[in-house]
Amino acid sequence: MPAFVMTEKCDGCKGQDKTACMYICPNDLMVLDKERMKAYQRDPQLCWECLCCGKICPQQAIDVRGYADFVPMGSSCIPLRGSEDIMWTIKFRDGEVKRFKFPIRTTPEGGAVPDGGFGDGSKANDINDQYLRTEPESAAMDFFAK
Ligand code: SF4
Ligand code: SF4
Repeated sequence: MPAFVMTEKCDGCKGQDKTACMYICPNDLMVLDKERMKAYQRDPQLCWECLCCGKICPQQAIDVRGYADFVPMGSSCIPLRGSEDIMWTIKFRDGEVKRFKFPIRTTPEGGAVPDGGFGDGSKANDINDQYLRTEPESAAMDFFAK
């Protein structure tokens, strides 16, 4: 179920032109109401619950109504991102709070290589090629042919 902004916590990213949640949402769903200096999620039906917005929000102002397969209905689920790990705070509907901490990847910010370093990109625009963009290098065909 979609992410939503807890307006009492949101500070509008202190009035910057583009807020953190606007910057990160892959569906361009976050909007800043400049009069109230509060963000809101403009179309819950288009949200795919990636929770990128929740992870980047510096105020922990974004929550998600989690599906019952990862938190019981009625719980809240708020991430707090650190430099080396991410802490999930789950508040159950009876008031119990549990926290889970997981390490995050160590690739430096901006250092991810989308094609994994395979291929030179020369096939990127060849829609008729039978291979995917990074193949055959990434498919290790030489290895399996041995
Ligand atoms: S990132 Fe958080 S604090 Fe900033 S505008 Fe969005 S909800 Fe508000
Ligand atoms: S959960 Fe993902 S898709 Fe939904 S509003 Fe947040 S960033 Fe956008």
